[in-house]
This record gives sequence, C-alpha cells and structure tokens, in this order.
Amino acid sequence: MLPEKILDRYRVTKGDGFKLKDFDPDDFGNVDLSKKDGEDLLELGVKRLSRLQQRLYAEGKWAMLMVLQGIDTAGKDGIIKHVLTGVNPQGVSVHSFKQPSHLELAHDFLWRAYRALPMRGRIGIFNRSYYEDVLVVRVHPDLLNEQNLPPELITKDIWKERYQDINNFERHLARNGTQPIKFFLNISKGEQRQRLLARLEDPDKIWKFSAADVAERRLWDKYQVVYEEMIQNTATERAPWYVVPCNKKWFARLVVAGVLAEHIKSLDPSFPKISSDDAAEIDAAHKELLEEKN
Ligand code: AMP
Ligand code: MG
Repeated sequence: MLPEKILDRYRVTKGDGFKLKDFDPDDFGNVDLSKKDGEDLLELGVKRLSRLQQRLYAEGKWAMLMVLQGIDTAGKDGIIKHVLTGVNPQGVSVHSFKQPSHLELAHDFLWRAYRALPMRGRIGIFNRSYYEDVLVVRVHPDLLNEQNLPPELITKDIWKERYQDINNFERHLARNGTQPIKFFLNISKGEQRQRLLARLEDPDKIWKFSAADVAERRLWDKYQVVYEEMIQNTATERAPWYVVPCNKKWFARLVVAGVLAEHIKSLDPSFPKISSDDAAEIDAAHKELLEEKN
C-alpha cells in the first residue's frame, strides 16, 4: 500500500486557489517503484481492502460512494476492474452514468444519482456521475436546453447553483452515513492520444472507441476549465476530491485502492457484537448439532 503521505498529496479539501496545472499527471510522489512492484503492491492493497470491506458490510451502517470522473480513456473502467477484483461482489454496486434517458430528463439532475446510491454497508461506484451535469452539459450548452427546465430557471447563475446543490447533496449524504470520495482521473493530452490510438489499432480494444471521443478531445481545453471549476467549487472536508495522476495506469490504481482503504479504516467498522441472549442461543444450537444422531 502507498504511504498515507503520498495519498495526501493528491487530496483537495478546499477549492480556494486550486489550479489543475499544479497537479501533474506524471507526478508519482517520488516513489521508486517498478510497474511489477506496483502490481504486487496492488495485490496486497486489494486484499487489505477486501478485509476492510467485510467489516463495512457486516456492520451495515456506513456506505462509501466512490465517484469517478475523467475524460475518455482516463482509466475509469480499468480502476473499477482492478481495484474491486477480489472484493466480495455482494458488497459492491457499480453504476455507469450515460446520456440521460427520457425518464431521467423528466426529473432534476440529482434524481438518477439518488436512485443509484449504495445501501449501508456497501461500496457504491459511480462511473461518471451527477458531475456530468456541470461538465459535459457545460461544454455543450445545447444539452442544458434538453433538460426540460423552466426557461426562467436557466440563468447565468445556473452552474453556481448546481455546485451549491451538489455540495448540499453531498453534505446530506455524509451526515447520513454515506461517505462521498471523489476521484478526478488526471491524464495528459499526449497520453490520451496514445490511448485513443491504441484503441483504434488493437482489435480487442476497438469496441471501446467512439467517434465522440475524438470530438470531445477537440474540446480538451474547455474540459480542463470545467474540471478545474468543478473542483474549486465542490472540494470539501466532508467530500474531498483526489486528483489522481493517471498517466501510468498501475500507479493510479494503487492510489485509488489506498485512498478507499484509508477512508474505510478511518470509519473503523466492526463486526456486530454477540449479545448475551444470542450467546445462549448459539450455545444451544452448537450443543444440538454436536449431539445430533444420524
Ligand atoms: P462512456 O462513459 O464512455 O460510456 O460514455 C458515456 C457518455 O454519456 C459520455 O460521453 C458522457 O459525457 C455522457 N453523459 C453522461 N452523463 C450525461 C449527462 N447528464 N448529459 C449528457 N451526457 C451525459
Ligand atoms: Mg467512452
């Protein structure tokens, strides 16, 4: 597992003065690890996560909400696959947020997120999230007009209002036992080019390619601006952002696994205690089974 002080360097808990350019997608915390070391560490990290998750699940009080945001190819799917492999699938829920359906567009933008929240004891993963409504929708203003809002509510303040609503929503979640942890997967433009090319050139990866990815890439600078403003306006102590350097996939996975494990550990979930009544029943059941004759 990566030392806590390395994980800390990627955590953002207040937006004032946050600049995306201060976070280098190649910043690997000065750790001297090979890819192989990183993969071995991840295996250990996942085992640790799995033990912590057993306690989270057994206690059934807290839920973790992992929000993954990042441009196409940043590594959202790979993180879900590698970090949660080995964790009991019953304790995990994954939800991918796509273009909203008619039903979703007939509601406010948080409605679909609310319905997908993890139950107590679970780790919920949002592969994209309600943050798309201050990202892609901001970069493509036409999408806002498709959201069926009363026109008088679409003012120049709408993004500020959405940030406020998101902060209130996350505060509500945190106050009620669902801990939001938000990951911005930070890759460089050059690395994205390599990954898109790899998708196009590898028959096993081409299914992931969408022409929209290249169209969105042309809007790279606009996306950087809206990502930065998103973090400036929604990084809080209760619901921090982690700006994860993602140019090396294995390093990004280590960071995410480490952060998730640390957060669960800090909640210190424990297996439920056996009451004295339960203990008597357990003794009786134990005795009965031992004495059973077949
Ligand atoms: P992918 O994650 O590659 O499967 O793509 C999902 C697509 O849905 C991305 O292009 C997102 O930007 C888009 N998307 C997600 N949420 C929204 C939203 N609220 N409004 C418009 N597009 C969205
Ligand atoms: Mg895609």
